[in-house]
Amino acid sequence: MKILGFYFGNIDGIYGNQTKNAVISFQKSFGLSGDGIVGPTTWNALMPYINGALGFIIPTNISYSSSILNINLNTLRTLYPFISIGYIGKSILGKNIPFVKIGNGNKEVFYSASYHGNEWITSTVLMKFLADYCYCYKNNLSIFGYSARMLFNSATIYIVPMVNPDGVDLVTGEIGIGSPPYNLAKNISNNYPSIPFVNGWKANIRGVDLNLQFPAGWENAREIKYSQGFTSPAPRDFVGFGPLTEPEALAVYNFTLSHNFRLILAYHSQGEVIYWQFQNYNPPRSFEIGQRFSEVSGYSLEDTPFNSSFAGFKDWFIQSYNRPGYTVEVGLGTNPLPISQFDKIYADNLGILTLGAVLA
Ligand SMILES: [Zn+2]
Repeated sequence: MKILGFYFGNIDGIYGNQTKNAVISFQKSFGLSGDGIVGPTTWNALMPYINGALGFIIPTNISYSSSILNINLNTLRTLYPFISIGYIGKSILGKNIPFVKIGNGNKEVFYSASYHGNEWITSTVLMKFLADYCYCYKNNLSIFGYSARMLFNSATIYIVPMVNPDGVDLVTGEIGIGSPPYNLAKNISNNYPSIPFVNGWKANIRGVDLNLQFPAGWENAREIKYSQGFTSPAPRDFVGFGPLTEPEALAVYNFTLSHNFRLILAYHSQGEVIYWQFQNYNPPRSFEIGQRFSEVSGYSLEDTPFNSSFAGFKDWFIQSYNRPGYTVEVGLGTNPLPISQFDKIYADNLGILTLGAVLA
């Protein structure tokens, strides 16, 4: 009640008049009868906040599907009305692709995750960061040593936590076995029997790799991936029949064009590596900021390997804006990474996510 802003006294564990008044104002603001008695309906209305108040809004111990994402976004929006939520577009299966805006500073930065279905742990990372930042802002705390309120007033962070909801839902099991979209993906997968199904699935639901869709050396990417055998819709590495043919990639592209991002972070797994370059572009301060990211995360700052150095979102961003853009590869192991890695991954990336807005 105190965190929600309905209770102003000390926390004394006593259900006194102050607490009763807090319950009544909570009930009234949720359209419940204001009787001050915490019955089942009131408990139901309170539950998300009880979870939230304890810092558990974002579950960090389960597979993170698009419906969990949407539940979490609704909770955050109610709990923290200073954030705004919208949609950058829709997936092939018609799912909304949400974005969140937090902050009102002039510096705009853009964080995005889960371009690849089996990298859904990156969505959890961005959502946990969002929830922590909201909590710190509301309670006037510091995040990674920086005043959340100062950060809020100097930078605006846009977050697209799940670029590829259909791919994520396939890998997390939210798309049920035997359902039409499952069968669509299974048929595609049958042409690539060496890639495990569903765990090897990175693409959108019709088999296009969303991080090979951007107009930055797309033809080079096509040549490389075709020579590797990815010549038709596939669980990964199929570039599509042209750049930006897929609605999810096009949505990220258009969203970026409609803003003035000074820095972008594109989250992937795995490798504990930060990629900062595209071709011979050397955006001002890009290497220095990358070095700071490397210091605070323990990840190594590396040149992109040639075979994956075209048609990614960060490639296109650097080419179009000559501003710092990074692909961050979190964690180590085989995708999908076990959620047991989450705490370490989050600890490694909190600094990057904070400094992205500080240094931009
Ligand atoms: Zn990836």
